Amino acid sequence: MNANNNEATTLHGESRLVGCSSDEEPGAKTTIFSQNEIPTTLVSNRSSVFMHRYFPLTTIDSWNDWKWQLRNAISSIEDLKKIMKLSEKEIMALNNLKGRLPLRITPYFASLIYNSKPSNPLRRNVIPVVEELLETSSEQSDPLHEKSFSPVKGIVHRYPDRVLFTVTQVCSNYCRYCTRSHSVGRLDKLGRQDYEKAFNYIATHKEVRDVLISGGDPLTLNDETLDYILSNIRNIEHVEIIRIGTRVPVVLPQRITDNLINVLKKYHPLFISLHFSHPDEITDECAKACNKLADGGFPLGSQTVLLKGINDNVPTMKELMHKLLKIRVRPYYLYQCDLIPGSGHFRTTVKKGLEIIKGLIGFTSGYAVPTFVVDAPGGGGKIPLLPNFVVEHNEERIVLRNYKGMLCEYPEK
Ligand code: SF4
Repeated sequence: MNANNNEATTLHGESRLVGCSSDEEPGAKTTIFSQNEIPTTLVSNRSSVFMHRYFPLTTIDSWNDWKWQLRNAISSIEDLKKIMKLSEKEIMALNNLKGRLPLRITPYFASLIYNSKPSNPLRRNVIPVVEELLETSSEQSDPLHEKSFSPVKGIVHRYPDRVLFTVTQVCSNYCRYCTRSHSVGRLDKLGRQDYEKAFNYIATHKEVRDVLISGGDPLTLNDETLDYILSNIRNIEHVEIIRIGTRVPVVLPQRITDNLINVLKKYHPLFISLHFSHPDEITDECAKACNKLADGGFPLGSQTVLLKGINDNVPTMKELMHKLLKIRVRPYYLYQCDLIPGSGHFRTTVKKGLEIIKGLIGFTSGYAVPTFVVDAPGGGGKIPLLPNFVVEHNEERIVLRNYKGMLCEYPEK
């Protein structure tokens, strides 16, 4: 059996978008639920207004069903136009996406952006603009050269003691700046034989003590497939830790079900690397999903890509880091945006990233400061960067400047 047949992702499955059914504005004070209709799972007022307007026949149970969210994900310009007014730049881009990273937005995430302006940071994450069609000579479809580090399908073995295992090409939302835009959203699925070859590769490479399961987004796979993958990896004696890279709690928090937690809990130590871009992504639903994962005992880290006009300033980044800590997610990496085709409008200078880190160090808790890295073009791997705090360094002493500009000396002898 092809394991990916188990994916719960049925694109274009049951589009239920309809026209406006109400003139209410989101956030309006509305009694959404009658007493006997109070949901056992959270639906914010914002999502509720959106759901009643655009999916009027849908029940709260369906809205909270992650498979319903995936079946009803918005993946065409026609469906997107039914819920929001698009700009000329967006329309031009959406009409020219053929062969590029597809459009996909869960109804939940659509409820966060449907009445926003084109400059809204969350909207820019998922709706392409015409600049995405412009490519420069420094951009490459596989800037990290993952293909040349791939001994078998799905495995990238770049670093000595760990491997990346891309178990699916499917995500619940497609981020317009995705490093793997050359492969995600494509139909090149891994079958059961591919999985077996990948397990075998890990089993025969005793130096691999850490396996990062990523994609695409692994949590778009159903619980049975995840169980199968995780149990096979956990059975390999020399694998010490397993990590899952996912954006699901941000774009599809309904996926974090009790059953999923019970499946994942069998495979501790299991770390979960989340991916956040902006503080507004941390809604009540997202916070609930992260707290549930934290209660399951999974150490949570967050990776953020530095994006022009989305999070490239100190106040936004600081707010994001603080909000992450409040939902028990430790900021892990801040990435310089990779040189993928059509990413020029998202990229900042490296200097900007260093300025942001300088604006965090000392001014807030060390836990709130991620490591700023450039994932080196050409497959050089992650290279950490720090602002320069060293004024002078010789055999006698090191002179350092602290975050307030104060000079401090430490003897080397
Ligand atoms: S969730 Fe990750 S893999 Fe999927 S599109 Fe976004 S960045 Fe790419």
